[in-house]
Amino acid sequence: MQAAETAVQPAAQEMKITRKTFDECMFPCYNPLPCVLDHGKGSYLFDTDGKRYVDFTAGIAVNSLGHCNAGVAKVIARQSKTLMHCSNIFANKYTLTLARELQQKTPFERFFFVNSGAEANECALKLARHTAFMEFGPDKNEIISFHDAFHGRTFFSVTVGGHEEYSDGFGPKPGAVTHLPFNDLAAFKEKISDKTCAVILEPVQGEGGIVPADPEFLKEVRALCNEHHALLIFDEVQTGNSRCGTLYAFEGYGVVPDILTTAKGLGGGFPLGAVMTSAAIAAHFGPGTHGSTFGGNPLACAVATYVLHRISKPSFLTKVNETSAFFFAEFNRLKDKYGIFKEIRGKGLLIGAVLSDDYAGKAGEIQRLLATKGLFVLTAGASVLRFAPALNIKRKAAREGFAIMEAALADYVKEHVKA
Ligand SMILES: *Cc1c(COP(=O)(O)O)cnc(C)c1O
Repeated sequence: MQAAETAVQPAAQEMKITRKTFDECMFPCYNPLPCVLDHGKGSYLFDTDGKRYVDFTAGIAVNSLGHCNAGVAKVIARQSKTLMHCSNIFANKYTLTLARELQQKTPFERFFFVNSGAEANECALKLARHTAFMEFGPDKNEIISFHDAFHGRTFFSVTVGGHEEYSDGFGPKPGAVTHLPFNDLAAFKEKISDKTCAVILEPVQGEGGIVPADPEFLKEVRALCNEHHALLIFDEVQTGNSRCGTLYAFEGYGVVPDILTTAKGLGGGFPLGAVMTSAAIAAHFGPGTHGSTFGGNPLACAVATYVLHRISKPSFLTKVNETSAFFFAEFNRLKDKYGIFKEIRGKGLLIGAVLSDDYAGKAGEIQRLLATKGLFVLTAGASVLRFAPALNIKRKAAREGFAIMEAALADYVKEHVKA
């Protein structure tokens, strides 16, 4: 073991890994920033040159407890020596513990575990279609979703998502999917019918620009779904797991969906997704209707049980909301001082800063600029900067991030005025 490790290490170190290696080895599906990351700690990341960055991205709302959280690392180490994977032909104590915890912490009764957000939505959409098929027959199959929604990249979930450019060019698409403008009650009222089997939405659209649903819109959608026996699916892949200041964002709206999907932050950096629903709806699936080899493996579930335990504590949520207030106050201060943002929106620690018209389309440019200055941020479309820091980001790291941002934006605005 020792010998094998020492044999592997020097060879890996001799290999020159640079950003160029990406272009030489990887599918060109991404265009990563110029740096190559080496390691992370809390809300800091370090590249292979030893440069340190403040991280306001948390792996796109994934590393709920920051990078390499000591508790998470301990659970992974322990579970890796206990039981990592056994497949779903066996029940195991770690998966069932997570399901029981979720049952106690949410209004849902049955759980299906997967490895990603797209898989969670794939399962939820299949479940909704199958439920309608069994209860009402094959004609009740229409799925309503919304423009700019994002539900993942499997062919079904990406087709249901609201960006046609992501689903075009791959041949025939899954049918009976209708896209409507988000938060437009009149359009929704006109379209929903007894043919509708499911309505899927994000309580706060994430990739679409951090657009919160109007509370009135959600309440009416819920009422109309009931009237037409359509299942309401909330995609909480990004908004869930305390990201929006409540364990799941629906709690903040007081509107309970029939099916909830989540992933991203649930495993604190370890891949895990979940589909949650009632016992009655879950009963439409039986042995063989759906499955996953890796979904709900003991390692992922043990980690998520730990993460869930931490992030659902009332004292933790209080802190998230305090940190959120700090972030909103800082962003509003920058907005008033530099005029580069026209709106700060979002919930909890899922925050969007909408660029003023003068800076429209510049989100990517500003993201790259901030990275060179030592701060990582996200974008959501071409004109919105998106922030999703670790839920437990320390005030010191947050202040450091804002200091970098302010200095960079002050210069950027000056340059822009000159140009
Ligand atoms: C990220 C995201 C997904 C897709 O999750 P993957 O793990 O990348 O498959 C789906 N829905 C929403 C709302 C997301 O933010």
